[in-house]
Amino acid sequence: MNITRIPVTNMRAGRPFGITGICIHHNAGQLTARRMAEVVQSRGVSYNYGIGSDGVVAELVAPGNRAFHAGDGVGVNSRGNDRSIGIGVSNSGGAPNWPVSPANFEHLVELCTVIARQQGWRQLTLGANGNLFMHRDVRATACPGPFLQGRMTELRDRVNRNLAATNTPAPPVTPPTPPAPRPPAPTPAPPATTSGFFPRATGAGIVAALARAGERDTSFAHRARIAAANNIRNYTGTAAQNTTMLGLLQRGQLRRANNPASPANPAPSNRYFPRASGSGIVAALNSIGINSSFDNRARIARANNIANYRGTAAQNINMLNRLKAGRLIRP
Ligand SMILES: [Zn+2]
Repeated sequence: MNITRIPVTNMRAGRPFGITGICIHHNAGQLTARRMAEVVQSRGVSYNYGIGSDGVVAELVAPGNRAFHAGDGVGVNSRGNDRSIGIGVSNSGGAPNWPVSPANFEHLVELCTVIARQQGWRQLTLGANGNLFMHRDVRATACPGPFLQGRMTELRDRVNRNLAATNTPAPPVTPPTPPAPRPPAPTPAPPATTSGFFPRATGAGIVAALARAGERDTSFAHRARIAAANNIRNYTGTAAQNTTMLGLLQRGQLRRANNPASPANPAPSNRYFPRASGSGIVAALNSIGINSSFDNRARIARANNIANYRGTAAQNINMLNRLKAGRLIRP
């Protein structure tokens, strides 16, 4: 589907609590996508996505950042702002029913399908503890109004049919095995251009998912090395840390870590830029004599699996963090 980017700056960068659901809102009004962006910008709030009365689907705040849509706090592990992707849908009429046009309901089905695929969710489940819920499920509000409230089951079912059509059967879970004798890898090695990252994988937990991604060492010690390589500090195996790792793995964004006990994942020393820091990615690249033009940053982003580089704050911070850790892959 075509998603137009209309940036709104009311957000908090990053997803330290992971992404565990989609939160559905209505506008309580009829707003084009651009007008919706202006209105939320001026009010100090935001959605991750807006679906306008003009049928435009807009990304207002990149899903890797937290938008201010649910009023349930930010930085406190809240179910709405901190952990969900918020979608605001324009109405096609007013009170009391607050309807949404058939075309925009179709857009909503498609957008939720895209998000579920990006997040590696095999299906949506409804309700405050599921991964598809309404604003009113997490806060005392009438949002998203009677019309959408009455269509949530249909929304879930339609998205799940789309997902079922594309889900591949789950590969058998390979139990963790000691490094010798070497068992056959459950999945083929990723292509060389992405070998800094595990292939996308999911599972009931991080251990099962790592095994599916072909990692032979799922021990605590090695998971701690993987955590460190992904800026997850002081790994003690908490649910939150494992959920963060699993989220990265599901998105194909989990960096591999060298395992001193296994020569299976060699990383030539010239594969990465030397560590560098600065007030931003441009300054940091300049400090080690690397061309920091947009085009060259886009090449570096591609080599590091940062998709659709547009120079957003989140993308630049991501690159800078890798560079600081000495894990920014040369293109
Ligand atoms: Zn709402």
